[in-house]
Amino acid sequence: MPRRRCHWRAGGLFLRDPDYLFWGETMIKAELESIVGSGAVLEGQLLARYTSFQVGGPAEFLVRPETFTQAAGIIAYCRENRLPLHVMGRGTNLLVSDRGLSGVVMVLGDNLAAIRATGPRIVAQAGASLARVSALALANNLSGLEFASGIPGSVGGAVVMNAGAFDGEMQDVLRQVLAANPRGELVVFGPQEMELGYRSSAFQNNDHLVLEAELELGPGSAGAIEAKMNDFNRRRRDKQPLDLPSAGSTFKRPPGHYAGQLIESCGLRGAKLGGAAVSEKHCGFIVNTGGATAGDVHALIRRVQAQVEKEQGVRLVPEVRFWGDFENES
Ligand SMILES: Cc1cc2nc3c(=O)[nH]c(=O)nc-3n(C[C@H](O)[C@H](O)[C@H](O)COP(=O)(O)OP(=O)(O)OC[C@H]3O[C@@H](n4cnc5c(N)ncnc54)[C@H](O)[C@@H]3O)c2cc1C
Repeated sequence: MPRRRCHWRAGGLFLRDPDYLFWGETMIKAELESIVGSGAVLEGQLLARYTSFQVGGPAEFLVRPETFTQAAGIIAYCRENRLPLHVMGRGTNLLVSDRGLSGVVMVLGDNLAAIRATGPRIVAQAGASLARVSALALANNLSGLEFASGIPGSVGGAVVMNAGAFDGEMQDVLRQVLAANPRGELVVFGPQEMELGYRSSAFQNNDHLVLEAELELGPGSAGAIEAKMNDFNRRRRDKQPLDLPSAGSTFKRPPGHYAGQLIESCGLRGAKLGGAAVSEKHCGFIVNTGGATAGDVHALIRRVQAQVEKEQGVRLVPEVRFWGDFENES
């Protein structure tokens, strides 16, 4: 297959060598389609439609693979052609620049979402929602995933983030992950190799694509499992601004503190910047009150960080992942 190199400006507009302006784009689309099929490559999709913050500019190419072979083919294609690749699960922990993203965004949602229970184990493809996987655990009297039933992300995103809440996190139940490396080869990760820590994992830095996770759960009674899920979800509804677009907790919990309390102590409850605001209900959440840009959210994050550091002496670290270029935005 002929290859032509494009010249990208990292994270910025779709600038490249003018010779390739038309043919390069047409060829890349055709080559992506040869991997995932013609209906599965979209151009210029606004990522605001794909993220829980409901902000973010266009993706140059957005692909939705339906098999592991296709997904692995995309990662290998992007590496061979030095195309930037961003992998999205359900977009619930992302802040995507208003300028959009050059290269390829690969979305793994309902298109790669098969799940099955075998004895005490659940095997789930990366795009499966945590809510569905938790519901399957409940249906099979399996305990250990109650914490995850209200987290709105995918299994892949939860592995990468080592997502957790209340009394649990993915690390407690994750036994094995099937991934594709940047060459598109399948690799199995055991618990040690995943390097799971507080909202962190090896997958945040190793450019692998999580394809499938195997979770090990314990026996439980359906009544007790369901009661615990209901309790956790009620506590979420009581405390969190679930009626407004957000990416959940904006910041990681700093050792010995709660981000929300530090932010509140600085008088930042309800602080607004454009359409972005520190939630009135829970200061640890930045929310889109309507019409926010990614630039608004980003600038508010920076303002909160600066004020908390100045007044409380604690540097807040974002839990939300930034995609694209935020220099001089807004
Ligand atoms: C209302 C609300 C409440 C939330 N509550 C919680 C909570 O209680 N606990 C918690 O931990 N989080 C919470 N979150 C944040 C978020 O849901 C989790 O971080 C979740 O695990 C992200 O999953 P996702 O599929 O949406 O990932 P995305 O946001 O799509 O991606 C997150 C990161 O994972 C990477 N990624 C995703 N899928 C793959 C894959 N298959 N292979 C390789 N990389 C991949 C992305 O590149 C990105 O770096 C909340 C969010 C919201 C909006």
